Amino acid sequence: MQLQSQSALRPGRPTTECAQCFQRIYAAEWSEYLDDRHVRHLWACDACGYQFETLVTFPAYPRTAA
Ligand SMILES: [Zn+2]
Repeated sequence: MQLQSQSALRPGRPTTECAQCFQRIYAAEWSEYLDDRHVRHLWACDACGYQFETLVTFPAYPRTAA
Protein backbone atom coordinates (compact mmCIF):
# COMPACT_ATOMS: atom_id res chain seq x y z
CA MET A 1 0.00 0.00 0.00
CA GLN A 2 1.34 3.38 -0.97
CA LEU A 3 0.39 6.79 0.26
CA GLN A 4 1.36 8.92 -2.69
CA SER A 5 -1.72 11.00 -3.30
CA GLN A 6 -1.10 14.69 -3.71
CA SER A 7 -3.70 15.55 -1.13
CA ALA A 8 -1.58 13.90 1.55
CA LEU A 9 1.16 16.46 0.97
CA ARG A 10 -0.99 19.52 0.57
CA PRO A 11 0.18 22.38 2.79
CA GLY A 12 -2.07 23.19 5.67
CA ARG A 13 -3.11 19.64 6.24
CA PRO A 14 -1.77 18.47 9.56
CA THR A 15 0.62 15.56 9.61
CA THR A 16 2.84 14.27 12.35
CA GLU A 17 5.20 11.45 13.25
CA CYS A 18 4.46 8.62 15.60
CA ALA A 19 6.26 9.25 18.87
CA GLN A 20 6.95 5.53 19.21
CA CYS A 21 8.08 4.35 15.77
CA PHE A 22 8.38 7.64 13.80
CA GLN A 23 6.01 6.50 11.09
CA ARG A 24 4.54 9.51 9.28
CA ILE A 25 0.84 9.90 10.06
CA TYR A 26 -1.06 11.81 7.41
CA ALA A 27 -4.49 12.22 8.92
CA ALA A 28 -5.66 12.76 12.45
CA GLU A 29 -8.19 10.26 13.68
CA TRP A 30 -10.13 13.07 15.21
CA SER A 31 -9.83 16.82 15.66
CA GLU A 32 -11.42 19.03 18.25
CA TYR A 33 -11.68 22.76 17.66
CA LEU A 34 -11.34 24.28 21.10
CA ASP A 35 -11.58 27.88 19.93
CA ASP A 36 -10.33 30.13 17.12
CA ARG A 37 -6.69 29.53 17.97
CA HIS A 38 -6.54 26.04 19.40
CA VAL A 39 -7.16 22.68 17.75
CA ARG A 40 -6.51 19.34 19.39
CA HIS A 41 -5.73 16.38 17.14
CA LEU A 42 -5.93 12.74 18.10
CA TRP A 43 -3.48 10.59 16.17
CA ALA A 44 -3.37 6.83 15.81
CA CYS A 45 -0.36 5.14 14.25
CA ASP A 46 -1.19 2.50 11.65
CA ALA A 47 2.20 0.88 12.12
CA CYS A 48 2.26 0.28 15.86
CA GLY A 49 -1.15 1.34 17.12
CA TYR A 50 0.16 4.09 19.38
CA GLN A 51 -2.31 6.90 20.06
CA PHE A 52 -1.52 10.40 21.21
CA GLU A 53 -2.82 13.94 21.13
CA THR A 54 -1.30 17.16 19.92
CA LEU A 55 -2.48 20.68 20.62
CA VAL A 56 -2.04 23.18 17.80
CA THR A 57 -1.93 26.85 18.72
CA PHE A 58 -2.34 29.35 15.91
CA PRO A 59 -0.89 32.85 16.13
CA ALA A 60 -3.33 35.60 16.92
CA TYR A 61 -3.82 37.14 13.52
CA PRO A 62 -5.64 40.42 13.54
CA ARG A 63 -8.91 39.92 11.79
CA THR A 64 -8.99 41.69 8.48
CA ALA A 65 -12.12 42.94 6.89
CA ALA A 66 -12.89 40.87 3.80
ZN1 LIG B 1 3.92 4.04 15.51
